[in-house]
Amino acid sequence: MPTTEETQTRLAEIPNLTVSAHTPLSRYTRFGIGGPADLFAETRDEQAFIAALSAARESGTPVCVTGGGTNLIVSDQGFRGLVVRFCESTLCADGPRIQVGAGAVLQDLVDFANHHGLKGLETLAGIPGWVGAAVYGNAGAYGHSISERVTAVRFFDGEDVRVFDNSQCDFRYRESIFKRRKEWIIFRVELLLEPAGAAELEEISAGILKVRNEKFPPTMKCAGSIFKNFLLRELPPAVAAAVPAAVVREGKIPAAWFLEQVGAKGMQLGGIQVAAYHANLIYNAGQGTASELRELIAELKRRVRERFGIDVEEEVQYVG
Ligand SMILES: Cc1cc2nc3c(=O)[nH]c(=O)nc-3n(C[C@H](O)[C@H](O)[C@H](O)COP(=O)(O)OP(=O)(O)OC[C@H]3O[C@@H](n4cnc5c(N)ncnc54)[C@H](O)[C@@H]3O)c2cc1C
Repeated sequence: MPTTEETQTRLAEIPNLTVSAHTPLSRYTRFGIGGPADLFAETRDEQAFIAALSAARESGTPVCVTGGGTNLIVSDQGFRGLVVRFCESTLCADGPRIQVGAGAVLQDLVDFANHHGLKGLETLAGIPGWVGAAVYGNAGAYGHSISERVTAVRFFDGEDVRVFDNSQCDFRYRESIFKRRKEWIIFRVELLLEPAGAAELEEISAGILKVRNEKFPPTMKCAGSIFKNFLLRELPPAVAAAVPAAVVREGKIPAAWFLEQVGAKGMQLGGIQVAAYHANLIYNAGQGTASELRELIAELKRRVRERFGIDVEEEVQYVG
C-alpha cells in the first residue's frame, strides 16, 4: 500500500488542488477540537475533486468530506486518511432561480437572495456552514428548511456526476438521501424562490440574526444544537403525554426539554460545558477535548434513556 507521502505526491500532481499533510483539524472545526488529518485537500474544481477521490481510492486511503466544519466533532486522534473540501462558491441568479456552489457560505446565499428580492431563504439567516452541508443535513430554522426551495442538486456518486430533483433527494427533517449515502458529494445546488421586496427580506434576516447571535455568540466554540429535536408524532404516546403542550412547536418537541429534565443545563466535563441557558447547547469553554465532549454526550443520552426510555440522537457528525 502506498505511504501517506506517496499519496500526497500523487495528490500534489492534480491541477487546481491544494494539499497539505498532518493538518490540525481543530483549525477547521467551530468546536476548535480535533487532531490532525494525514492529508488535507481543497479545490473549487469538480474534476480535481473527482481526481483526488480516485487517487485516494486507488491508494486505499479513507476519505472524509467536510464543509465549514460547524457541525463536526473530530476525534482527538484526528483522521487517518484524506479530508477534502469542495470550496466552489459562485452564486448566480436567473429570474427567481439561484445556482450556487456547494462551497458557498450559507449566509452569503441568504444575503444574495435577499438582495435580489428573492423570498424563501430569509429565515435561514445565521445558520453557520456551507451550502453543500446545508442540503446534506436539510438545514433549517424558524419553521423552514432549505429543502423547501431546492429544485436540483448536482453531485458525484463515486462514479458519475448526476443531478437529482427535489423528490429524489428524499428530504426529511434534518435528513436527505445524501446523509444516508455519505459517498455522494454535492457540487452544486439550484433553488427556486419567489419575488418579494429586498428591504422586507433583509429586515426579517437581520431580526433573526440578532436573536441568534445572542443565543449563539459568533465566537462560541460549538455546533449549535447537539441533538435533533423530536417529531411529536414519532414519540411513544406515553412520552408525548408527559410533555407540556406549551413546549410543542410546529409539531416538534425540542430535545432541550428532555435534557433539561435530566439536569443537563450547566453540566461540565473538563473544558466542555453545557450552556446554563440552553440544555441542547454544548460548547468548548477553552481547552476541551473530543473525548470529554463524547463522554458528556454519552452521559446525557444515558440519562434521557433512563428517565424517558427514548434516545436523543446527535445532529452533529463524528469524524475519526
Ligand atoms: C451556532 C450554530 C448554530 C446552528 N444552528 C443551526 C440551525 O438553526 N439549523 C440547522 O439546521 N443547523 C444549525 N447548525 C448546524 C450547522 O450549521 C449545519 O449543520 C450546517 O449545515 C453545517 O455546515 P458545514 O458546512 O459547517 O458542514 P460540516 O460541519 O463541515 O459537515 C457536516 C456534514 O456535511 C457533510 N458535507 C459537507 N459538505 C458536503 C458536500 N459538499 N456534499 C455532501 N456532504 C457534505 C460532511 O461530510 C458532514 O457529515 C448550527 C451550528 C452552529 C455552530
